Amino acid sequence: MDEVQGLYTLASIFALAFGLIVGSFLNVCVHRIPRGESVVSPRSRCPGCMNPIVWYDNIPIISWIMLGAKCRTCGTTISWQYPLVEGLTGLLFFLVFWRFGFVIATPIYMMLAAGLVLITFIDLTDWTIPNEVTLPGIPIGIGCAALATWYPESGLRVLGPGVPVFSALIGAIVGGGALYLLDKITLLLLRKRGMGMGDVKLLAMLGAFFGWPGVIMMLIFASMLGSVAGVSLIMWARKTGGGEELPYEDDDSISVSAHYLPFGPYLCVAGLVVMFFGAEIYTEYVTYMAVGL
Ligand SMILES: [Zn+2]
Repeated sequence: MDEVQGLYTLASIFALAFGLIVGSFLNVCVHRIPRGESVVSPRSRCPGCMNPIVWYDNIPIISWIMLGAKCRTCGTTISWQYPLVEGLTGLLFFLVFWRFGFVIATPIYMMLAAGLVLITFIDLTDWTIPNEVTLPGIPIGIGCAALATWYPESGLRVLGPGVPVFSALIGAIVGGGALYLLDKITLLLLRKRGMGMGDVKLLAMLGAFFGWPGVIMMLIFASMLGSVAGVSLIMWARKTGGGEELPYEDDDSISVSAHYLPFGPYLCVAGLVVMFFGAEIYTEYVTYMAVGL
């Protein structure tokens, strides 16, 4: 019993450390993917003095604290976004292991969580959602559902009645289709973009991973999160004197800069909620409906 406990503790620490290292790599991706640069070479450089960053100044979170958030050579401030992405990825990897344990689903959901962190921070800083993640993500999600269909011990959780791979296929179509229609309707009625095509591909990917009931849950959660965050931001803007106008007021432009709040981060958070708790919520709901009938 103690040996099993020890093995779990060791694996949890390993998951956390692995997540921190992956988070460090995600920082490079957040910076370089929108610029169309390679994520493997050249080695990380300080954007201020272009000096390569030595390994002991590149240890997740620790180096940022030790350096006092400044480049060792030129003193350029290093954004708090770097330790945030590292810490968040480390925490998510730890939570995935803690929730799912020693199953095939664990490394798969770690990679999915990393993809969602990447999408969130690129959408927040660049207002785009990288096709590099969402386009391969759709067939990978359907592949995982196929694995869940023939190998239930995988620990993969595709929601819905019946065969997982069908729920995943419908999920990808419904997820992408719902946001595509929403975009077209908004464009028709309000003459501005409601959703970007990046959001369409993102929800198609998440639908492929978690099935069509997952898509419904994610749309509900993401809208709730978006409303709460939107109202808070508007209230905060008023409180601070409203010095900055909301960019989309009286703006008929359909350019990406007309987006005040990207929807991608809410979809990513909603996707993580469904990954961790979707199966439980779904079971509760189905039981509730069955009792109600
Ligand atoms: Zn520097």
